[in-house]
Amino acid sequence: MKEIGHWIDGKLVAGTSGRFADVYNPATGEVQAKVALASKAELDAAIASAAEAQKAWAATNPQRRARVMMALVGLLNRDMDKLAEALSAEHGKTFPDAKGDVQRGLEVIEYCIGAPQMLKGDFTDSAGPGIDMYSLRQPLGVVAGITPFNFPAMIPLWKMGPALSSGNAMILKPSERDPSVPLMIAALCKEAGLPDGVLQVVNGDKEAVDGILDSEIIRAVGFVGSTPIAQYIYSRAAATGKRAQCFGGAKNHMIIMPDADMDQAADALVGAGYGAAGERCMAISVAVPVGEGTAEALRERLVPKIEALKVGPYTAGNDVDFGPVVTAAAKANILRLVESGVAQGAELVVDGRDFKLQGYENGFFVGAHLFDHVTTDMDIYKTEIFGPVLSMVRAKTYEEAITMAIDHEYGNGTAIFTRDGDTARDFANRINIGMVGINVPIPVPLAYHTFGGWKKSGFGDLNQHGPDGFRFYTRTKTVTARWPSGIKEGAAFNFKAMD
Ligand code: NAD
Repeated sequence: MKEIGHWIDGKLVAGTSGRFADVYNPATGEVQAKVALASKAELDAAIASAAEAQKAWAATNPQRRARVMMALVGLLNRDMDKLAEALSAEHGKTFPDAKGDVQRGLEVIEYCIGAPQMLKGDFTDSAGPGIDMYSLRQPLGVVAGITPFNFPAMIPLWKMGPALSSGNAMILKPSERDPSVPLMIAALCKEAGLPDGVLQVVNGDKEAVDGILDSEIIRAVGFVGSTPIAQYIYSRAAATGKRAQCFGGAKNHMIIMPDADMDQAADALVGAGYGAAGERCMAISVAVPVGEGTAEALRERLVPKIEALKVGPYTAGNDVDFGPVVTAAAKANILRLVESGVAQGAELVVDGRDFKLQGYENGFFVGAHLFDHVTTDMDIYKTEIFGPVLSMVRAKTYEEAITMAIDHEYGNGTAIFTRDGDTARDFANRINIGMVGINVPIPVPLAYHTFGGWKKSGFGDLNQHGPDGFRFYTRTKTVTARWPSGIKEGAAFNFKAMD
């Protein structure tokens, strides 16, 4: 059985804890590898060596660090197919979707080529008589990234780009479900010129995560995953005075107004609801048509499109719309929630419960499901399902629809489909959700804007990538300078204004 270890001090090393987790091929249900789960001692050694390597890296001028990012962009492009293949094999998503995963991460590395500009700081000439004042952005030291299974290339790259180009060393703890791609990216970082020890990839589970959280050396932790773990990490990280940004789960609503282009809205819902088997934090899981006529027109268009979706392994190429979910446990949880929807009185319009794929009977495939007449008290409305299940909740008015999204505990993404600028503008202004689409179903911001949810979808006050990425991984120091030749008075004992 293939064993997957860690990336420490510029090379792959085997785990020594004796503990392993299974890595599945989600299409067949077979265990294809075992990933080592680091002990606290292995983690501590990786942190100590990162702290040593960070000193010289921080002293390397920003432009040289940016050149490593530039080289990395070239290498990610060169190895795009190889990375996407490894990603699909462990995650199960289709090959084009896996390339998108790498591409969206790569775009943040492209943005980080501009690190010298982001780190420039501010300068005030003559802030007082003979006094200059300037602010620097300095790296924090050793920082950590803890990432989920559903974007094993993109989210590690979102963490690494701003952290490394700012002069930090990073401990990356990827998901134990699909650990290969982060290790391949670490090898590309070395090839791009990143010094050994500056990026350590430590595979593991709760033991490694708790070690990161309790470390006095690690100064910041960027987390993405489910909400209960995000909350846990946010509070435990604070106990050692770390910065933490923790992004959690989602339940994204798409509101469809009576004046929307119904064909466009139906296409958008199918892609955003079922793409990647619904295993996206920006997937649309709730459709809210406004008015009975809208609901009927939408349903009529949606049903044949959903019934025609092709589910299969990534190896079937372009013939597949979405693949299996990540584990047997994820599949069981999705089907349990579907049963709860039926039991609580929702209408299961498209029923994927009996879906079977010939030759892949043990794979973690889940057929597409559509519920109609869902109400806000049902578990399928309140809970993140993270599977190919779309719920339609009918609203009588726009006000009822927006209130629904406002009142939901999650606030990651949302969308409205309408031809009316006034309604769209009102929606964008009033909604308490971090990322908003107007006739765009999955409004993932590009690298130079920031990504982050509100309410129980995000804990911490800075977002991922864009300018916030640099703010999170650096701290400001402000220097007030007066040179001896400028001192023309005696000692001053009062707290002086600069006048
Ligand atoms: P998860 O919370 O199970 O795992 C995320 C990370 O936390 C992994 O590295 C895992 O090893 C670690 N972890 C898991 N249990 C832990 C525990 N008890 N103690 C300490 N660490 C633990 O999430 P997942 O299943 O890998 O990913 C799916 C979730 O991530 C969904 O809820 C999805 O919405 C969310 N997500 C959110 C965003 C966002 O930007 N808001 C993006 C992608 C995914």
